[in-house]
Amino acid sequence: MRPVPGAIRAGRFLVSGARLYARFVAGLVRAYIGLGANVGEPVRNLRNAARALAALPGVRVAGVSRLYSTTPVGVFNQPDFTNAAMALDVPAGPDPETGALALLAALKSLEQSIGRVARRRWGPREVDLDLLVFGRHEINVERPDQRWLVVPHPETRKRLFVLAPLSDLAPGLRPPGWHETVATARRRQEAAEGSDAVRVIAGRDWPTAVQQPL
Ligand code: ADP
Ligand code: MG
Repeated sequence: MRPVPGAIRAGRFLVSGARLYARFVAGLVRAYIGLGANVGEPVRNLRNAARALAALPGVRVAGVSRLYSTTPVGVFNQPDFTNAAMALDVPAGPDPETGALALLAALKSLEQSIGRVARRRWGPREVDLDLLVFGRHEINVERPDQRWLVVPHPETRKRLFVLAPLSDLAPGLRPPGWHETVATARRRQEAAEGSDAVRVIAGRDWPTAVQQPL
């Protein structure tokens, strides 16, 4: 018997519901992280970041995007960026704000250990780790250092260099507060920025692949 499309959709819905429930029972939240770098050895820095993210306590890697070379947005006279995204199942924490703040603290400390030097916003950086999405939660909270944490990351929708790798991982995801999926936002930004604004330079095995010149 040929499968009916409605049955396939219902099947997928059940599978994703079951996965969501399994994460909930395990006390995990699916988070998406944006990785970027354009100073020093960007690919090496992103590899180090990806491996360190995978080694964070209680964290499971649920997916890795392809690796992209991207044209800088905002400040133009700087080297091209290397960008990627990762899906991580991370400890949910006692509440979403605490869980997301703990994850951001881990991202910031990884940036430091990989050698990020403070410079102007949107300028060059050794590594930038952004918390794009934290489960179904919308978060707007002041951090202990008086900066804010805003999730989903507000720039995500406007930036092809984030949407392209995120769309490798979760094209059908509709982050909380969005009226469109990641794939739709990606297509819109691709039309606006031009498809050569982001270029695939390596497949999903880039964090572990034998070091090749990229
Ligand atoms: P950029 O905005 O270019 O990524 P930084 O990485 O220096 O710049 O981040 C500046 C501040 O942005 C961080 O100290 C953090 O408090 C804040 N921020 C707010 N929301 C987020 C988020 N979702 N992910 C990462 N940083 C965030
Ligand atoms: Mg950042």
